[in-house]
Amino acid sequence: MTTYCFSLVRLFTGRACDANDKVADGLENPWLHCELEVHPGPHYQMLHEMDANIGLWARWLDGEAVLIPLPHCGLLTPGPNPYACWLFDGHGGGHSWEKYQ
Ligand SMILES: [Zn+2]
Ligand SMILES: [Zn+2]
Repeated sequence: MTTYCFSLVRLFTGRACDANDKVADGLENPWLHCELEVHPGPHYQMLHEMDANIGLWARWLDGEAVLIPLPHCGLLTPGPNPYACWLFDGHGGGHSWEKYQ
């Protein structure tokens, strides 16, 4: 059984930033949780897909998260109807379809 990280951080605590505020306004829950398997950090959560190949990710270690665009991992499941991993390229631990299968 896989154990996930679920490190929590609050997005954009008390700091004004136009670009960040637009993203934060679109989130119902400003709390982020890490989407990777247990690891030493930094931690990551995808906020939304920017296009078919790039996701906008929040990354944090201690305190405030920063936003960075990262290419998708894209590794496909085996079999006739493959799903592509939507985690970022080079992520540690299992792929997204191992978490949600
Ligand atoms: Zn983490
Ligand atoms: Zn992957």
